[in-house]
Amino acid sequence: MRVRAVAFRHLRTKLAVLYAALFAVALVVLAIVAQVMIRTYAADAVRAELATSGSVYDRLWALKAQSLTGSADVLAHDFGFRAAVASGDEPTIASALANIRDRAGVAAAYVVTDDGDVVGAHGPLATAATRFAAIEERHDVVVVVRDRVYRLVRSPILAPMQVGWVVLAIRVDAAEMRALERLSSIPLIATVMYDRGGGRWASSDGSIAPDRSIDALVHQSRAGRPLETLDLPEGRAFALVKPLVGIEATPHAAILIRYPYDAALAPFLPLQLGIGGAGLLGLALVILGSRRLAAGIARPIAALDAAARSLEEGSRATAMVEGDDEIGRLAASFNRMSAGIVEREHRITHLAFHDVLTGLPNRAFFRQALDQAIAGVLRSDGAVAVLCLDVDRFKVINDTLGHPVGDTLLVGVGKILSRLAPDALVSRLGGDEFAIILSGRFDADRPRALAQAIFDAMRDPVLAGEHHVVTTVSIGIAIGVIDGDTADQLLKNADLALYRAKQDGRGVFRFFEPALDAAARKRRQVELDLREAIRCGQFVLNFQPVFDLKADRIGGFEALMRWEHPTRGLVQPDEFISIAEETGLIIAMGEWALHEACRQASQWPEHIRVAVNVSPLQFRNSGFQAIVLQALARSGLSAGRLEIEITESVFLEGEGPVVDLLHRLRAMGIRVALDDFGTGYSSLSYLRSFPFDKIKIDRSFISAINDDPSAAAIVRAIVDLANALHMETTAEGVEDTAQLDCLRGEGCGNIQGYLFSRPIDGSRIAAMLAMESAIAA
Ligand code: C2E
Ligand code: CA
Ligand code: CA
Repeated sequence: MRVRAVAFRHLRTKLAVLYAALFAVALVVLAIVAQVMIRTYAADAVRAELATSGSVYDRLWALKAQSLTGSADVLAHDFGFRAAVASGDEPTIASALANIRDRAGVAAAYVVTDDGDVVGAHGPLATAATRFAAIEERHDVVVVVRDRVYRLVRSPILAPMQVGWVVLAIRVDAAEMRALERLSSIPLIATVMYDRGGGRWASSDGSIAPDRSIDALVHQSRAGRPLETLDLPEGRAFALVKPLVGIEATPHAAILIRYPYDAALAPFLPLQLGIGGAGLLGLALVILGSRRLAAGIARPIAALDAAARSLEEGSRATAMVEGDDEIGRLAASFNRMSAGIVEREHRITHLAFHDVLTGLPNRAFFRQALDQAIAGVLRSDGAVAVLCLDVDRFKVINDTLGHPVGDTLLVGVGKILSRLAPDALVSRLGGDEFAIILSGRFDADRPRALAQAIFDAMRDPVLAGEHHVVTTVSIGIAIGVIDGDTADQLLKNADLALYRAKQDGRGVFRFFEPALDAAARKRRQVELDLREAIRCGQFVLNFQPVFDLKADRIGGFEALMRWEHPTRGLVQPDEFISIAEETGLIIAMGEWALHEACRQASQWPEHIRVAVNVSPLQFRNSGFQAIVLQALARSGLSAGRLEIEITESVFLEGEGPVVDLLHRLRAMGIRVALDDFGTGYSSLSYLRSFPFDKIKIDRSFISAINDDPSAAAIVRAIVDLANALHMETTAEGVEDTAQLDCLRGEGCGNIQGYLFSRPIDGSRIAAMLAMESAIAA
């Protein structure tokens, strides 16, 4: 099986062998048929010739008998001779016999008297003559005497009654056979055969050794089938046997006329050779022809095969096959299929390495390209720079204007970037984050100039759907290979620079500097420490009193978290709240603060409230309401004494659910304050969405209230607005009496600030309240 598979690796060979074999078989069959026909024809011709020769010989034999008998008759009728026989005149008889022997050319001549005496000679032949004379019916017999075959004829001697026979004997020998052979038109061989006893026949001239097959032939001949084939040591031959009748009924001699096969077929040899030669020539032509034919059929298939292979190996392959037969059509569909596969492959590769929305290269592509760019820089002396961009407040745009608008905005930004940096690789890393690789030779100022060009371009509104969206981007820039010699590092550092740009107020660009990395490391360390702090309970709450200007006494305390770091000491919220928010740790920390604040507040006088800051992340977390309930239940604090402080940023991710939750909290009796008012976006709309209990005016307005008339105007406006909406106000960060006086003049309800008290430890609250009562009294 294996061998076959190897031998016929090529269709061409297979076809060629198949065709050649088929033709060869056909040729062989033809040759065999031709041979058989030739042989049959030759045999028929030889048989016909033999049969003719046989009948010629029969006539010859009969003629010979007539002539011999004639000679015998002449003697037997001779008067003197008859008288001599009648008188027993032996010398006369002998002389007459000698005379006839010479004249007729016979081997022997006898006179056999009716008494059985022989005159002429003695011996076995004479004895045979005596026996011949004694039989009635035949006048012409063949006898075998001492391995010699003789023909005897007789003629009666009448004087006037029969007194005896004249018997003549002639040799039936090779010479006679030669004469016979000469009569035939074909070179046949005639041989005298005789039975040497027991059916073993031999030729009298010794040319054929004693053989039993002759006996069979003799019998067949007598049965009417004289023509046969005979196998002799000299070879196969056609044979005709003419039994020669003797004294007895069974013949003891016969003439074998034979014609060797080879001789019979000899005339056909050129024909046979011709057929054989033509066959070989034909075979050679067939082999050549079938090779060409097979090659003709196999070539297009081989071309298809080769094309399929190269397609399998991943390269685009076209099978160059012409013609509109099946193979041509197959090749055409193969080529179409191959083109389709290649196109689909391109599409798949494109999809794998490109962003579907913007069509820009994706993060995977970007990473590879950056790797290559860095490798290029390390090889030669080019440069590489990475600009990381982030669309500022994209989430807000997405949430307020809808995702389709957000998507169109991203596409628009991608187009702007591609337009401004046609020589660079612009890619979308995901979300609202883009990145640009500058590589090769570029001006040292190019990254900065590009960033500036991007800001300039972004100043015009981007048309997203039917909206004209004005937005900014923040950009972080890292320069290879100083800021990183791997794609990961360079990208990470560009990202750190971006983070810094965002922190520095958005809409700006920042270059990476090692300090950023240090800051990032520090943040990471803080994060790790925070986790530890949550586990070990390293947080404490300080409380800052909120002074009620109308009632002229402390109305409550705001809980402010502090971190008792084991090595760094007391850490202020500025250093950890934002990290806790970024990492989600604020949820656990806020839960603790809520419990702790309620627990401590439950120890205070009934009229003193507690305010707890709630991060947007914590507020939006699904379990928030349950946590508030739990804190109240566990502490026993009445809901009306708890005030939660939220900032406008809780509304950023959708207003509906937030407002629902606020209503549920309000339904429980909890108060809600809007913190840091004035620093957010569209504060007034939020004030309409939910009736807050209190507005906390941000410290930035308070600190400027005496120097900046507009700050004072804003504070006045907020207070008026709050009054109109039946909301309380608290001014934050009141540090001096001038501010206090001003606020009092504006009608602000509560103040909070260092002027009155810094945030204090919970343990000091009782004393503070006691002192306040004492002063009042
Ligand atoms: P905030 O909610 O606006 O809290 C008021 C901040 O102003 C406090 O800073 C307070 O110490 C400070 N402050 C009060 N009076 C004055 C003043 O007269 N002058 C100046 N310069 N500052 C004054 P603090 O405690 O460092 O907290 C900072 C921020 O951290 C808070 O701002 C709040 O947003 C956040 N925070 C504090 N504790 C928590 C907490 O438990 N949970 C959450 N989510 N945030 C907290
Ligand atoms: Ca607050
Ligand atoms: Ca505040």
